[in-house]
Amino acid sequence: MSVLVYTDLHDGKASKGSLEALSYASKMNAGDVVAFCHGTLNGDGGMGAFGATKVLHNAIENLDAGQIAKMVADAASQAGADVVVFSHDNSGKAVAPRVAVRMNAGIVAGAISLPNTSAGYVVRKSVFSGKAMADVSLKTSKKVISIVPNSFGLHRTDGTASVEAFNGDAGNSSVKVRSFKPTSTDGAIPLPEADIVVSAGRGMKGPENWGPIEELASIFGAATACSRPVADIGWRPHHEHVGQTGIAIRPTLYFAIGISGAIQHLAGVNGSKVIVVINKDPEAPFFKAADYGIVGDAFEVLPMLIEAAKSFKSH
Ligand SMILES: Cc1cc2nc3c(=O)[nH]c(=O)nc-3n(C[C@H](O)[C@H](O)[C@H](O)COP(=O)(O)OP(=O)(O)OC[C@H]3O[C@@H](n4cnc5c(N)ncnc54)[C@H](O)[C@@H]3O)c2cc1C
Repeated sequence: MSVLVYTDLHDGKASKGSLEALSYASKMNAGDVVAFCHGTLNGDGGMGAFGATKVLHNAIENLDAGQIAKMVADAASQAGADVVVFSHDNSGKAVAPRVAVRMNAGIVAGAISLPNTSAGYVVRKSVFSGKAMADVSLKTSKKVISIVPNSFGLHRTDGTASVEAFNGDAGNSSVKVRSFKPTSTDGAIPLPEADIVVSAGRGMKGPENWGPIEELASIFGAATACSRPVADIGWRPHHEHVGQTGIAIRPTLYFAIGISGAIQHLAGVNGSKVIVVINKDPEAPFFKAADYGIVGDAFEVLPMLIEAAKSFKSH
C-alpha cells in the first residue's frame, strides 16, 4: 500500500507546497509515500527529508496539465497507490481533477485536514469563503486530495528517498502553452507559500508610500500583498491582491495596514494564524478579526514598528 504525491520542481528541488503535501501524506499512515515529479531533479529534490521513500522521476521538462495527469495516474497504478495527494496550488488545481477523472476517484479539492477514517473516509475543507467547514465523505476506492498551502505545515522526517526513472507515455499535448514558470517579481517567495505576509490597503494613500511596507516585509522575509482596490487602481500588481476575488492565503502572520477589513478581503485572509491590524480608525471592521491591533496613523506607526523589528532581529 502506498500514497502517491505529485511534486512540483523549482531549480531541481520540490516546492514548499509539494513538501507540505509529502508531510501530509506521511502523516496519513497509509503506507509508503511515493513522489512523482518531472523535469530537472537534483538528488531526491529534498523529498526524502519530508517523508518520501521513493521518487518516480520523468525527465521531460515541459508537459501540459493533461499530460501530467496521465503520467500521475500511470505512476499511481505502478506504485499501487489508491490515494494521490497534491498541493492546492496552480498545478494541483489544474492536474488533480484530471487525475480524479482518469482514476475514477472521488476528490476533495482544497482540503485542510487529514482524513478521518474512524467512520468512513472524511476530509475537511473550508467553504463559502472560509465561513463554514464541509466534511466531505469519500466513498470511492481511489481518492484524490489537494491540500491548501500552509494549512498543514512542514514536518521533517529526515529520511532518504530512492530515485527511479519513470518513462511513462505522456501522450500528445492538447494545448499550445509549452512552458509556464511562475516567477515572483524580485525573487520574493510566492504569496500562497509565505509564512509571513505584509499587506496594505488604500490607507497608504499612494504607490509612492510602499517603501515602509516593503522594508517591513524584507526584515521578516515576508511576501507583500494588498487589498483589491489597490491592485485595481494600479498601485500594486494584481498578483498581490488577496481576498475573495484574489488569492486566498493562510500565513502564520498577516499584517493588515490601512485596510478596512471588508468581508470580501477577510474571505481570503481569515485562515491566517495571527492577524495584526494597523488602522487609524478604531471602528475599522478589521479589528474584530485581529489578534493584535494598533490604532494609529500607519505613517507614524510603521517607522516605529520597523525599528522594533530590526532591533528584534539583531538579537
Ligand atoms: C464582489 C466583490 C469582490 C471583492 N473582492 C475583494 C477582494 O478579493 N479583496 C479585497 O481586498 N477587496 C475586495 N472587494 C472590495 C472590498 O469590498 C473593499 O472595498 C476593499 O477591500 C477596501 O479596500 P481597502 O481596505 O484598502 O480600502 P478602504 O475601504 O478605503 O479602507 C482604507 C482603510 O485605511 C484606513 N486608513 C486610512 N488612512 C490611514 C492611515 N494613515 N493609517 C492607518 N489606516 C488608515 C481607513 O481607516 C480605512 O479603514 C470586493 C468587493 C466586491 C463587491
